[in-house]
Order: sequence, then structure tokens, then C-alpha cells
Amino acid sequence: MRTKKSIITLLIISITLSSAVGLYYLQRYQDVKTQSFNESAKQALHQLVYAERDYNLLKSQLVSVMELLSHSQSLVNFASSPSNQTKNLLEEVWQSVLVNQKWYTQIHLLDIAGKELVRVNYSSATGEVMLPLHLQDRSESSYYQFAQGLEHEEIGGWGIELETEHGELTYPYKPVLRVFTPVETPEKRVGYLVINLDVWGLSSRLNFSPDYDFRSEVVNESGYYIASNNSSKLFGDSVPERKSFNLKNLAPKTWDAISREQMGTVFEDGNLFAFNTVKLANNQEMHLLIHLNEKQLLDRAERDLNDLAHEEIIVLFTVLIFAFPFAYLVTHYRRRSLESKLARAALNGMSAVMISDKQHRAMMINNEFENMTGYSKNQVIGHNALQLLLENTEQVLSSESIWQHLEQEEVWEGEVLCKNKLRIPFTAIMRVHAVKNNSGKVSYYITSLVDISVRKELEVRLRFLSERDALSNLWNRRKFEEQLAYYSRLVERYPNEATTCLALVDIDNFKRINDELGHDEGDRVIARVAGLLQDSLRSTDFVARVGGEEFALLMPHTSLPEAKRVLDRLRIEIELAAGTKVTVSVGFTDLTSNSTRSYKCADVGLYESKSSGRNTVSMCPSHADVA
Ligand code: GH3
Ligand code: MG
Ligand code: MG
Repeated sequence: MRTKKSIITLLIISITLSSAVGLYYLQRYQDVKTQSFNESAKQALHQLVYAERDYNLLKSQLVSVMELLSHSQSLVNFASSPSNQTKNLLEEVWQSVLVNQKWYTQIHLLDIAGKELVRVNYSSATGEVMLPLHLQDRSESSYYQFAQGLEHEEIGGWGIELETEHGELTYPYKPVLRVFTPVETPEKRVGYLVINLDVWGLSSRLNFSPDYDFRSEVVNESGYYIASNNSSKLFGDSVPERKSFNLKNLAPKTWDAISREQMGTVFEDGNLFAFNTVKLANNQEMHLLIHLNEKQLLDRAERDLNDLAHEEIIVLFTVLIFAFPFAYLVTHYRRRSLESKLARAALNGMSAVMISDKQHRAMMINNEFENMTGYSKNQVIGHNALQLLLENTEQVLSSESIWQHLEQEEVWEGEVLCKNKLRIPFTAIMRVHAVKNNSGKVSYYITSLVDISVRKELEVRLRFLSERDALSNLWNRRKFEEQLAYYSRLVERYPNEATTCLALVDIDNFKRINDELGHDEGDRVIARVAGLLQDSLRSTDFVARVGGEEFALLMPHTSLPEAKRVLDRLRIEIELAAGTKVTVSVGFTDLTSNSTRSYKCADVGLYESKSSGRNTVSMCPSHADVA
């Protein structure tokens, strides 16, 4: 039954603890995940900030290049006097620019009507510079239209578009951004210098990150991808089957943020988008975009989450290990609490109970103990309470023997005289139970006290009533016989010890007093004589009323002559006592081991006193012939 309860408790505790741990770690898991996602977002933004800084560097570099080229001597020479020689010279200069810069795909010069005059191509893939076979007419192109509106020295940009050759998209697709500026002689505008920038080359330069996840994509102003590691989603605006790859549709929330802010991060459908918008030219923007999908984010969080999972397993394991002793404690505690309830109920029963340690220091007392002794728990706990109670009573001396007794036995029981806190004595039945350990040494004492003072008092009263004579307040005949027998035994036991004398005292002619003064007065006289006897004798002497007007005296340590003197003095005292007007006759003897014979001897002595005229003391020694 207990095992079943323990198992159920263990199960409940295990489930509760596991759930608590689980919930805690679920929360932690979410926290760590969120923390890691936010960390990834932060890193992505940092990456985009670096990219923007690099971009600004490139831009200023590009502006310098444009200015240099548009004002270069070779271009001025060609523009003012076009010839193969000036053209070749110009081409040479441009070729070296392309090779050095690497991310320009083309430099060309349009005449004022939009026709190409000179062009140099560059392949970043092969690093080759090529001169085209045919120069093209760009007068229909949008960028030419746009370039015509440029101010003096102004640099404009157009794109980003896929490069075309004779109106056809060049394959592999290559997004280009055209940057142009008017070429002017001192007199007039003669054409436009156009540089095609390789957007991929540009973005790869802007995009350098040792972390593959943070390589950014480039999205144009319409939301189409123009640079990405995933080439299949590029140029949705130019390639109809890729039309769906538009950030506006793919991540509308992000697109909305991009249109409102220059830089930021958005979590959308489990994806992270970090963006930074850079201006390529006055009117040309592109959005650098870092996109991490949920898997990438989770992969990045994985190490932390793995650590967390390990931690959780360890904690769960530890918690479950602790569940066993915990379950045991709980069951045990339940049992203990039941036991302690029972113990308390038992403790608070009728008797005063104290539990003390082997040094007799009280550990626990019940309410009745407090009531009985007057000591509070605080005054008793930690102290030797029995010593307090037995203090100044002879019992404290014998308490050592109690402990000795308990070394051998389980229980000691006896009557003890105690004193409460107010020093009022009370008698108690004390029962001490020694609780022993396995090796038989006492560990605790359980002491119970039952106050028997009332019972004791009753006993005393009963005894008093049974041994005392109500009229004279002296011992009665029964007690006398007991005492006589006791003293006789003493004589028998110690024959050579000092003599004890037995005397019988009888009031003379008492019948007459009764007759003349009435019974009440007779009683008063009896009481008065009793008082005189009691007061005149030594405290060790014993006086009893053994008949109507007859008294018996036992005088230990008293020789026959001494007894004679004492009894004569008594006789005279009574005779002379005011208000009694009585005399007494006395017979006495020395006590022997034969109490009956001794009594007879004393009676013989009394008879002799009566016979010789009363108011006399007569001795009948034990050796006299009285039979
Ligand atoms: P003696 O000198 O020979 O002893 O004469 P006595 O009258 O004292 O002798 P006796 O023993 O014959 O009489 C005793 C009387 O004491 C008899 C009885 O009525 C009376 N008596 C006995 N007990 C009591 C008592 O308790 N109270 C009173 N008032 N009288 C008692
Ligand atoms: Mg008599
Ligand atoms: Mg008499």
C-alpha cells in the first residue's frame, strides 16, 4: 500500500517537475530563438551598412572616373578631330580603364544624335577587352532620351537593365547600369560618354561577407531581383517566366517597409529580410537585401538551441533523480505528519508528558506538562526539567538510581514528590520510558507524570480517619496495636537496644463524671486529658486512646525508672490541671517481643494502681509473673 502510494507520488512529482522543466525550457527555447533571430537581423544590418559604405566609396570613385574620362585629352582630341588615330588612342585609354576597374562592362561614346562613335567592351568573366564589329544606334534608347536632359558636367544614371546588343538581350543575362555625362567642347555639346556598370560585379564588391548567409541580393525599384546567388529569380521585369519573383509579391510587408524606410529589418512568415536602399545616381535607387529563411535562421540558432537542449536534458535528468528522494520525503512526511498528529493527540492526553534527550534535556513537553508544573515550554526546553521539578525533594537524590535502572530496563515507574514553579509540592506517579537505539543505548526518555496529590490527600485523610480517634485526636486502638506490634518486632530484632516502655492510663471514676456532669462534659474531659498526655510527652512517644477513658503510651528509648518519672509527672499534671478535676491511674511495663504479654503486664500495673487507691503509677516489669 505504502509502495503504491510512493510510486503514485513519484509519478506525480516526476510529471510535475518534468512539465515545469519543459515549460521553462520551452520559454527559454523561444527566448533563445528570438534572441538568435534578432542577433541575425542585427548582423544582416551591419553587413548592409558595410555594403553602403563600400558603395559610397565606389560611387565617388565612379564620379572621379567619369570626370577624368569626360575631360581626358584623348576624348577631347577625338571629339574635336575624329580620326582613326585619335579613336585608337581613345580606345587604348578606355581599355586600360576597363581592365583596371573590372566592373565596367562597356565604355562608349554617343554622338549628339545617339549613335555610337567609339565602344570598348569588357568581360569580367574572361577579363578580355573587345572592340565591337558594329557600332549601334542608341538614339531610340531610353537612357539616350534621358541623357539629353542633362546639364553641363552633370552625371546621370539609367537602368538597371539587361544589356542588349542590337535590340536583343545579350545572353548570359547581364544587368547593367548606365552612367553618362555630356561631352562638351568649349563651343558645344558633342555627345555623351556612357559607362555600363556591371551590377553583379558591383554587388559582389558591395556584398563581400565571409558569412554566406549574409551575401545580399539586389532588388530594383520595381521589386525585381537584379542580383542574387539564385540566378533563376533574376530579371523578372525582362524575363516573362520569372515575373513572379518580385519582392512586392513575395514579401509585401517587407516591401512596404522598404518603401517607408531607408534601412531596416522585417520578420515575415518566418523569414528575415534586412534591407538598405542606396542611390546609384540622382534618380536611381537599388535595394540591398539580405534574406534568411526560417531554416537558415534556425541553423544559425542551432548551436545555442543545442546547448539549451543539452542543458534541458541534464536538468531534467537531475530533477528526476531528485524526484526519488523527494517522493520518499513527501510520502514519509505525510506519514510522519500523520504520526506526529497522532503523537500530538496522544501527547495532549491526560498526563503531563515530556520527551528529553539522553542528557535529560527536555525536547518537547505537552500542554498538560505546562499546566501541571507551571513551567512554560520556553522555560523547560533545553533544560533538565526533572531536576527543576524534583529540586529540594529527596527524590532528586534517588533520580540517579532511576537512570541506572533504565540502562537495564525499558521503564521505571514510581511515586515522586515534585515541586511546581511556585514551589508548591505535589505528588505524582512518574513513568519514564527509555527509548533505545539499536545498540541498546538510551536515545530519548519519555516521561509522563500523573498528579496524584488529590488522591494522596484523600488517602491521607482516609488513613487519618482510620487511625485517629475523632474525640481525642489521638491515635486509635487499631493504630496502637499496629505500633505495639512494630515496637515489639524492633525489640525482637534489636534485643539489646534501649528499652521501650508501654503504659496504660485510665481516668479514675469516670462513670461518676458522666453521671454527674453529663456525657458531653465527660467527652470534654477525655479530650482534655488526651491533650495533656500529648503535650507532655516527647514527640517520639506514641499516645493512643485505646478505650472509653483509657489511653496507651509507647515510649521508645525509655528505661523503667525514666518511665516512672515521666508518668508520675503526667499523673500530677492531670491532677492539677485546671477544669478537669480528674485523676488517672497508670500501669506500665518494659516492652518485650511478646506484645500481648506486655499489654497484660501494663494492665496488671494499672489494676494495681486502681487497687491501691487510684491516682497512682504502678510498674509491672516484663519479668514479673503475670500469667
Ligand atoms: P475506675 O476508676 O475503676 O476506672 O472507675 P470508672 O468509672 O472509670 O470505671 P469504668 O471502666 O467502669 O467506667 C468507665 C466509664 O466510662 C463507662 C462509660 O460509661 C464511660 N465511658 C466510656 N466511653 C466514654 C466516652 O466516650 N465518653 C464518655 N463521656 N464516657 C465514656
Ligand atoms: Mg476504664
Ligand atoms: Mg476508669
